[in-house]
Amino acid sequence: MHTKIFSATTIGVDAYIVDVEVDIAFGMVNFFIVGLPDAAIKESRQRIQTALKNCGIRFPERRITVNLAPADLKKEGTIFDLPIAIGILQASQLLSIPADFLQDTIFLGELSLDGSIKPMKGALAIAYDAQRLGKKRIILPLENAQEAAFIKSIEVIGVSNLVELIAFLRHEQPLAATKHRAPVTPPSLYDIDFSQVKGQENAKRALLISATGNHNILFIGSPGAGKTMLARRLTTIMPAMTFDETLAASKVYSISGKLQGKSLISERPFRAPHHTISQAGLVGGGSFPQPGEISLAHHGILFLDELTEFKRTTLEALRQPLEGKHVCIARAHQSITFPASFLLVAAFNPCPCGFYGDKKRECTCSQLQVHRYLEKISGPLLDRIDLQIHVPSIDYDVVKDKKQTTSSADLKILVDKAVIIQQKRFKNDTQRNATMTPDQIEQHCKLTDLAEALIKKVFDQLHLSMRGYHKMLKVSRTIADLAGDDIIDVPHLQEALMYRSIDHYFERKRL
Ligand SMILES: [Zn+2]
Repeated sequence: MHTKIFSATTIGVDAYIVDVEVDIAFGMVNFFIVGLPDAAIKESRQRIQTALKNCGIRFPERRITVNLAPADLKKEGTIFDLPIAIGILQASQLLSIPADFLQDTIFLGELSLDGSIKPMKGALAIAYDAQRLGKKRIILPLENAQEAAFIKSIEVIGVSNLVELIAFLRHEQPLAATKHRAPVTPPSLYDIDFSQVKGQENAKRALLISATGNHNILFIGSPGAGKTMLARRLTTIMPAMTFDETLAASKVYSISGKLQGKSLISERPFRAPHHTISQAGLVGGGSFPQPGEISLAHHGILFLDELTEFKRTTLEALRQPLEGKHVCIARAHQSITFPASFLLVAAFNPCPCGFYGDKKRECTCSQLQVHRYLEKISGPLLDRIDLQIHVPSIDYDVVKDKKQTTSSADLKILVDKAVIIQQKRFKNDTQRNATMTPDQIEQHCKLTDLAEALIKKVFDQLHLSMRGYHKMLKVSRTIADLAGDDIIDVPHLQEALMYRSIDHYFERKRL
């Protein structure tokens, strides 16, 4: 007897159908699987045989051949356990599932030795593509049913063990399709708030601009000035995620197996990898490529503290994703793409000892040491950071000050207002000023005569590059949006000029 069951796998964030063909014939008793990597086959055979036995099913004493097709599609072994087991039962007539049901259904799941079905990676990504792949139904581990059920166009049936599934397929016990429950959103999503940060009003202002126009930002300051504390609070003022952003971010977590239990990523992710992270860990990699931190930060924030401590090659790998909003991982047979549209927040000390330019502590570094240290930051990376701000250490008086400071709620109101202006401008829910093309800058960054004169002076005096010039206009645009002004004026431009601490340093050096 011969039968075909459908399963699926993911490459990048896209799903592909895998045909599981099972043939049972007379002849020498044996169990072959072809189409999987060798190590996975051995383990898979053992798991399926033991799981069936432990569910009280006698493993057919026949010659069993299983083929996973297409052969050239790279497959990770474990999620095919369930379709293979069902295929064996169907081919040996222990099940008689109607042909149209099989045709419309994707089976997914790894078996435990006792027949229970373990959670999997990529359920949301597969559910998302299922309809396009011509399927109507997914049978998958119960733990992943909620995430898959976010996709309304497909019937999702979650199962916790093989016995339960067999009873369902024999019409002995019903299994209800899973309905998606909206994630319960508490009134305040975060237990952190900008009001907890004393002083640092300039840095908060810079973060307000960053959240509004989606501008990458760099903090330079002494240890203990509160750079990390500030960065973490940026998520509290960013615009709420749109439906598409939630879906896209959740797919990345789904294929990384990091959703488990949670049905969706509905708050903007905040990722803060340590500076010892490998390049593969940061941008993605591995033999079955997995998303890196930059993709886990998709539609959220990537915070790189102690930027100068990261390996230079690791930071260089950020250039392409910062520009293209996705990352390509090349492998022998194909290249895999993961989304990586993140807001970069970086921080570093101004010199090796950390106190260069500090009002209270003296820097013990030589000029040469300071130069060498700052040169660790690559120019091209710096080019992609619109806002640079010095975060000074704060005085005792400020720490003890009981007076209310700006809260996240105060700032969020301003962000939301200016985001609406941008949505109208770009006729697009998600584009922000930071990603304006040169044509859009030309069209949307109108200047008053005085502002025009000022930018001309700055351009000539500082020998601004085209990129530097565009960066300044984009930041000015956001500042004007926050003020509700159509045309960019001198104060907007002057403020934008303040956010060039590091550029100033390099320009001074060049002159
Ligand atoms: Zn120093």
